[in-house]
Amino acid sequence: ENTLLEVRDLRVDLHLRRGTVKAVAGLSYHVGRHETLAIVGESGSGKSVAAHAVLGVLNELPVHEIHGSVRLSGTELLTMPERERRAVRGDRLSLISQNSSLNPVFTVGWQVGEPFRVHRGMSQAQSLKHAAELLDRVGIPSASTRVNDYPHQFSGGQRQRASIAMALALEPDVLIADEPTTALDVTIQAQIMELLTELKDENGMGLILITHDLGLVAEAADRVVVMYAGREVETGTAEEIFTSPAHPYTRGLLRSIPDVSHKRDRLHPIKGSPPDLMRPPSGCPFHPRCEWASELCSTELPPAQPLGPGRAASCHRLEEVAGVSHRD
Ligand code: SF4
Ligand code: MG
Repeated sequence: ENTLLEVRDLRVDLHLRRGTVKAVAGLSYHVGRHETLAIVGESGSGKSVAAHAVLGVLNELPVHEIHGSVRLSGTELLTMPERERRAVRGDRLSLISQNSSLNPVFTVGWQVGEPFRVHRGMSQAQSLKHAAELLDRVGIPSASTRVNDYPHQFSGGQRQRASIAMALALEPDVLIADEPTTALDVTIQAQIMELLTELKDENGMGLILITHDLGLVAEAADRVVVMYAGREVETGTAEEIFTSPAHPYTRGLLRSIPDVSHKRDRLHPIKGSPPDLMRPPSGCPFHPRCEWASELCSTELPPAQPLGPGRAASCHRLEEVAGVSHRD
């Protein structure tokens, strides 16, 4: 079995003073070796909260409850004692996020070498040597001297490379990349994605790419999960999602990006905004924004309809929607 990480019906409730937010209301996915899974959605769709729940790093959030199952190579993580969980983190499951995770007051080499000291018991000198090797591998020139630099002496792209080096230090089985290139300019974005894909191929990692950027998804992903209002609304291969999107929300997302191949000159952003998860709409959470919405949509939550192997969408009107070209 090639599956490394399997998430089943993940739900995260955040208890705020104003009430309870169902930040993640049902998310399932799996990722295997050498595979890139993209989790796509607008901000506020719950994709980052879900990633943090999978990693077990929700401590900075308000009081919360997590339900469902997160298995890494068959081992359940959600019920694992925090000490063991911490050992899994970094060693087997790692995260990079939009903003470089470097601390400004320590040298880059000290930080990139930290996992080797903490998890592998290496000396400072050994850990620095390993840090330099890693920085070299992620494309930092003169890495053996630059380990002594502080983060502000690195460019934005170099800081993100260093964060990737740190996340990869212990050769995790699965790397979760949460908007890894959002803060970077376009050229650097492409380089960082190339680097992540290359490292995934070399190390046989599973890569989970969390993004709102469908351009990135088209380039890098094998499979895609589309999230809306804390739920998965469609899943399939990248090819299926781009050539025959089934869910009105997915179709809306595709119409809102520039499409070079079809010479589309006008973009159609989805009208309205994502719902307040404190007071989610009744029925299908997308119904206030959906051009296909019927009466049933405002009263009943659509269940996931299987559309083929590994392919599903949650919508009451899939047949009607499928009858109309998504490029219109
Ligand atoms: Fe639109 Fe109804 Fe489908 Fe929701 S269930 S996406 S409102 S058609
Ligand atoms: Mg986010």
